Amino acid sequence: MSSSIGSSGSGMKLHNKILLGLIVGASLGVLANQTLGGKHPFVEGVNHYVAGPVGQVFLRMLFMIVIPLVFASISLGVAGLGDIRRVGRVGGKALGYFFVSTAMAAMVGLLLVQIFRPGSRIDPVVRAELIQTYANDATSKVEAAATSTFGIETLVNVVTRNPIKSAVDLDLLGVIFFALMVGAALTLIAPEKSRPLIDVLQGIEAIVIKIVEIAMRLAPYGVTGLIFGVTSRFGFYLLKPLAFYVLVVVLSLFLHVAINISAIIRFIVGMSPMLFFARIRSALITAFSTSSSSATLPTAIATAEQNLGIPSTIAGFVLPLGATMCMNGTALFEGITVIFLCQVFGLELSLGQMIIVMFMSVITAIGAAGVPGGSIPLLVGILTMFGVPGEGIALILGVDRILDMARTTVNVVGDLSATAFIARSEGVWDASMVPAEEGLDSGPRKGA
Ligand code: ASP
Repeated sequence: MSSSIGSSGSGMKLHNKILLGLIVGASLGVLANQTLGGKHPFVEGVNHYVAGPVGQVFLRMLFMIVIPLVFASISLGVAGLGDIRRVGRVGGKALGYFFVSTAMAAMVGLLLVQIFRPGSRIDPVVRAELIQTYANDATSKVEAAATSTFGIETLVNVVTRNPIKSAVDLDLLGVIFFALMVGAALTLIAPEKSRPLIDVLQGIEAIVIKIVEIAMRLAPYGVTGLIFGVTSRFGFYLLKPLAFYVLVVVLSLFLHVAINISAIIRFIVGMSPMLFFARIRSALITAFSTSSSSATLPTAIATAEQNLGIPSTIAGFVLPLGATMCMNGTALFEGITVIFLCQVFGLELSLGQMIIVMFMSVITAIGAAGVPGGSIPLLVGILTMFGVPGEGIALILGVDRILDMARTTVNVVGDLSATAFIARSEGVWDASMVPAEEGLDSGPRKGA
């Protein structure tokens, strides 16, 4: 799979351009707000004719692909399980570990974002204006979200009556359910019948990833426009919660690794977590520098086999699955981002809705492509589910690259811990088999 979403092809790296876009847009916006005021006709004109449209085109490029992406990646993921079922126990264990560790990660994120509430650090007056500004998108949904409760009908409604309508309404749960059904049915029919659809779905998935890449090339301009729109109206007030948000994501990622994964490595795998992390550092450095689990796969396999001594039958099976399906860091990031933006827009979620956020974060993290920014289109989809205006994503996109580097590293920690766990539980490896000498140096290797 291509990892070129991270590079713009010409000169400056894409993520640097996006960061520059954020800085330029935010500085110009704050300047306009401080000197002319957010309601000055010139500022309104720039927002109406330039910044707004540029930002909207970028956002629409992302919205456009949410449904095909969710549908293709989830149905293909389930269709692939046909093979796993044949592999049996190891496949089942891998899926179980992926799911449990990802849910644990999402829980850490949700807990911390609830404790620190970075999005609530926004001035109530600014919040009221923010909701007013994005009234078309927000208010009706704000009210709908406030009144909706979690009950038996929430579960029944997951079983969509009409998948096309679910797609039109961006009802992600309905689309996911339909995709799960299609994927399951694909594994149950004869291969000559399932093959054509699988080929089409693979084609759709490849096309959608290409469109994400094209959309991300527009990101520097889109982000400039969107952030100018926000800061010219609201000045500095939004930047403080954003800084807290970044800290909460990074702290949660750290705690998930330091507590959850370390406990698994020490008590279940039976290895010193410090030794484990030291031995897998080449994979971690590669993940951090590429922001892509897929690009890190070759290094991760080499690390598992040469530095941990895990048999290639396990590493070669679990790691490729993990690179696309096991995304601890991504689920944690998605959960925090959804709650943060709900806080910014003054949406209080009930416990049931929080559970849905967690569930959606875990499921969409499984569906996200292991490429830079792979989870962004899915995140946009979840946000609309909870009534957060699409513009909300603009607030976090400027800082996404650094968060992507951090969450991808945690995704790869999750993949490697899964491999160690499964090798150990299959009785084919234990910590005493870790070679005394490292086979791989700690330098990043070029990925696929
Ligand atoms: N960049 C991540 C990965 O490759 C996916 C994401 O969260 O955007 O693992």
